[in-house]
Amino acid sequence: MGLKVYINGKFYEKSKAMISVFDHGLLYGDGVFEGIRSYGRMVFKLDEHIDRLYESARSIMLDVGMSKKALAEAVVETLKENNLKDAYIRLVVTRGQGDLGLDPRKCRKASVIIITDNIILYPEKYYKKGLSLITVATRRNIPEAVNPQIKSLNYLNNILAKIEAVHVGFEEAIMLNSDGYVIECTGDNIFIVKDGALFTPPAYLGALRGITRGSVIDIARSLKIRFSEKVLTRHKLFNADECFLTGTAAEIIPVVTIDGRTIGDGSPGVMTTRFMKGFRKLTKSEGVKY
Ligand code: PMP
Repeated sequence: MGLKVYINGKFYEKSKAMISVFDHGLLYGDGVFEGIRSYGRMVFKLDEHIDRLYESARSIMLDVGMSKKALAEAVVETLKENNLKDAYIRLVVTRGQGDLGLDPRKCRKASVIIITDNIILYPEKYYKKGLSLITVATRRNIPEAVNPQIKSLNYLNNILAKIEAVHVGFEEAIMLNSDGYVIECTGDNIFIVKDGALFTPPAYLGALRGITRGSVIDIARSLKIRFSEKVLTRHKLFNADECFLTGTAAEIIPVVTIDGRTIGDGSPGVMTTRFMKGFRKLTKSEGVKY
């Protein structure tokens, strides 16, 4: 039996899981999404992801059409249906089926899609040896346009940055905001360690309030490591002792070079390794069981 996909309350075989070409998620990227993980039959930070999804939906005036509780239960049901122990979960809510005009009033009902699958990770070598980043020309969306806190189906801004990085042989891109401050990568938040303290760019400058970012901040607190949100320049990054990225899919991934500058001694840092271990412990110890 192949994987089953949840669409609007029903399960469909992967090969038959389809939505209309008139869905505004496809026609206009009009919708929101979340990426979630489960570890050992426990969904990690499920409520946080559901809350963020509903915040994104509210911001674009999209009625999900079901309660948070019902949606969380549907996620768990989909995982059970597929008998997945460790999974990547993609939750998508689109404006739904409309006509060719962009007016959202034409879409009567949101489409709710839950895809669960095995997780595809960055190759193991990046966790052991670290990642090399490059700053790209494409800037992060300004908050006055599509606010970066909205995880919308319009990811072209980030995809353009990814294309730039891949084009010159790098896996990930550092994105700056329109004022030239460091914000985040294409699908991950960025942290640096300097003189024993931890820093990440503030959300108000345009960084997504990542759930993994939140977990790392919690770990810093429990380990009594000094932390603050800080406006970061590339210069600050180049002179960091350590650097790492955080995200649901990537978890915590060390960074060892930035725009050709070696960070620290060019290998994953001691603090980074502590955070990686702390995060692993967290994913094993908490979550919504199924
Ligand atoms: N920034 C962006 C732009 C992202 O798309 C993601 C992934 N959702 C993140 C950061 C990391 O967020 P999280 O830890 O919640 O996955």
